[in-house]
Amino acid sequence: MPNYAQNWFIHTPIEQGEVLSSWLIRSALDMGCSPLTLIEALWGRWRALTIDLDRGMTEDRLELLFVHSFDDKQKILKTMLTNVAPYLVKSSNSGWVLSLGQRSRSNFSGRQVCTQCFESDGRSAYLRLMWRMGWHCCCEKHQINLIDHCPNCGVVIQPFKIDLEHGSLAVCFSCHFNLTLYQPQPSNIQILDFQKNADNVLKQGSGLYNNQNISATEWFAIARAWISEIRLLVDTDNIQLIEMFKSFGINLNTITPFTPIAFEYLNTNERIILLSILNEIMKIPCELIIDRSYEYGISSANFWDKRKKLPIQLQQMKSAMIKPIRVYALQRVSSHNGKPKAKKTVQRKWLNLLRKSRKKRSHKLGGD
Ligand SMILES: [Zn+2]
Ligand SMILES: [Zn+2]
Repeated sequence: MPNYAQNWFIHTPIEQGEVLSSWLIRSALDMGCSPLTLIEALWGRWRALTIDLDRGMTEDRLELLFVHSFDDKQKILKTMLTNVAPYLVKSSNSGWVLSLGQRSRSNFSGRQVCTQCFESDGRSAYLRLMWRMGWHCCCEKHQINLIDHCPNCGVVIQPFKIDLEHGSLAVCFSCHFNLTLYQPQPSNIQILDFQKNADNVLKQGSGLYNNQNISATEWFAIARAWISEIRLLVDTDNIQLIEMFKSFGINLNTITPFTPIAFEYLNTNERIILLSILNEIMKIPCELIIDRSYEYGISSANFWDKRKKLPIQLQQMKSAMIKPIRVYALQRVSSHNGKPKAKKTVQRKWLNLLRKSRKKRSHKLGGD
């Protein structure tokens, strides 16, 4: 490990709403060194770049960062996800905070950015902490969608691969494309609405669902449960269920199934589709969903796996729906579709049956 002088300081000021990793990268570039060098100078052999630094770190490592920074301790703490949404970061599998999909120093999930924000930041283009939240897919200020990959070469945006040769976070690390030149997509109303709403719930610590004021934890749990239901719904071939959602103005038919990975790993484009539907569904009163389920003959079996622990409001709604009828015997008969089975299948089953009966007989003989 190189021997660094002890009296050096990070001079780069933290920008409004900046996330820790962004500040460290910009500080390194301002100091004229690579982010890796700065990380080594701060924490020695600790492989900080192989973990998600924005989620926070141990007290002693934090202390080392404070020692070498001019900025106020409180300001530094505010750059970490743990201090903005503690209950979201600490909850099991860190719901809602986007995962980087880390493999050594590489990420397979990209960091989302607003290219217009980068443009207005000028030389000090920086990453916003809120861009790490799963419900953020657009920039409220510029009314455009965020991007998580380079529009020129397609690689996912990985800020820690930015080095002196790039000079700024607004450049693709792979092809050096200037991201501010990109013509962004305008955001749809649904996604902007959901983002604003979720931000408010986070800020106020409470939110509205089904005309009831509930805690932020409950609100996010309900939204999260609906996300898993939507992912099942887009896969359904139950015509009645599709029709029922059509009656709410939601067309499940036009949506292609999502990549089968956790929500926090999904790319921005997939989350835009998912959250746009979520925004519409979250506004439907539970009572109305129950009424329509009777009207369309939809049983509660179509809503969430019965092993899933649901927030109380959703559990009550599910319990009020038509109970599923056990149709195992019918299913077995209908699986034939009236067609005769292939000769090979019948032969295989026959051999299995013979084998079983022979085994039984030999057991009996042995037992006697
Ligand atoms: Zn913006
Ligand atoms: Zn590129």
